Amino acid sequence: MTSTFSIVKEKLQELHDLENIQSVLHWDMEVMMPAKGVTARGEQLTTLSALHHRLATSEELGALLQECAGDASLAPDEKCLVAEAWYDYERTKKLPEQYVRNLSDARTASYHAWTKARKNNDFHGFEPFLARNVELAREGAELLGYVESPYDALLENFERGMTTAQLQELFTPLAAELQQLVQQIIAKGQADKAWINGEWNEGRQKEFTERVLRDIGYDFEAGRIDFAAHPFCTNFDSQDVRITTRNEKTVFGLFLSSLHEAGHALYEQGFDSAVRRSLLAAAPSLGIHECNSRLWENLVGRSIPFWQHYTPILQQLFKDDRLANKSAEDFAAAASYVEPSLIRVDADEVTYSLHVVIRFELEKALIEGSLNVSELPEAWAARYKQYLGISVPNHADGCLQDVHWSEGLFGYFPTYALGNLYAAQVMETIRAQHPELDAEIARGDTRSILDFLREKIHHVGRRKLAPQIIEEATGQKLSSDAFLRAIRAKYNLN
Ligand code: ZN
Repeated sequence: MTSTFSIVKEKLQELHDLENIQSVLHWDMEVMMPAKGVTARGEQLTTLSALHHRLATSEELGALLQECAGDASLAPDEKCLVAEAWYDYERTKKLPEQYVRNLSDARTASYHAWTKARKNNDFHGFEPFLARNVELAREGAELLGYVESPYDALLENFERGMTTAQLQELFTPLAAELQQLVQQIIAKGQADKAWINGEWNEGRQKEFTERVLRDIGYDFEAGRIDFAAHPFCTNFDSQDVRITTRNEKTVFGLFLSSLHEAGHALYEQGFDSAVRRSLLAAAPSLGIHECNSRLWENLVGRSIPFWQHYTPILQQLFKDDRLANKSAEDFAAAASYVEPSLIRVDADEVTYSLHVVIRFELEKALIEGSLNVSELPEAWAARYKQYLGISVPNHADGCLQDVHWSEGLFGYFPTYALGNLYAAQVMETIRAQHPELDAEIARGDTRSILDFLREKIHHVGRRKLAPQIIEEATGQKLSSDAFLRAIRAKYNLN
């Protein structure tokens, strides 16, 4: 290790620590902080992010990284660290300080406007703020640079290695197929799932959730679960990965969303310790993060084999008459019930990607300039009619339902649907390598799944981009095929 590299490494560790300190403060804000702490917390976070930005864009760091880039004596991981740090450095440098400040101000104002607008079903109250966010996003795309579409530049913030054209090629036929599958599933008829609704003992739900999480490999010595307004996963190191949960009024209320977050958490607990405290101990994209959460939530947690093991355990724990005569098939069917709906976060695993495709098409059009912000509610309603066959009764449950655009996040939504595609492709590969997988899951043994994810995805961290990781893990380029095959198999469709 050369001395320049050791200086660089130390500087990058400082940046890494500053990011994680901010995450601790965010976690505390969501989970622990009393309401009146919000002003001081805002100041603390601003100070830290300004300090981080100053260090991350310093001329000194740039010069040191350039010096290291030419150092042939570095080990492969060291070269990779320098290359990735240079990528981050260059990208951050492209955004002038004034632009970053404008963005931050606009986001704060727009988030508050959105909260109010959503409550009052008032699109016009939010419209100028959204217009400003779109304008800034387009400005950002110009500053970052792109080849074909300005949306490419924004997509790169969340799913590096993927282009707008590639997404279009994946999503257009996917949406058409899904529309047909939804109709077929509904035409076949589904078992009633009303029995899952109601009040369920929260303590028992948490106990059951912790039991499953422990079984699938979530390390409680390196993590914890707390209640918060929104379920999320955050890590300060692979040895401290926390998730939050909330109680909703179904028997799965707390469990399935926690299993989703645990999928994220298993990824973060599985980063290679050889690169800890560095940017290589991270996911290369949000889509591949979602690959993990959706694999555990949808492909394991909503399956019959899973419930073959856990139905008696849950019945034993709850000691509730409403569960007494329920079978594994009942649980899996209720957790897999398909129904076109208005709200993305409540959508089932089949219609979910349609919600995403709608958002992708609309935000792409906003960024490329073919759709005006004022036309958004109408375009939103038209697509919900077209793709899901439902009417949008109001803005609050329409284009105001998601927080993303209020925070200036454009290019984020596609990662959710990509996660579904990645997950199905990965699961199909695991299944091919373990023909007894269903029997293993039905015994409560999911080690084959975790072992595969650990080796092929978790351990890699940010050494490779998502499309490459998926191709190497599954032997195939990304496509929708495995996802569609899995849906057809699950719902017995041809
Ligand atoms: Zn997620």
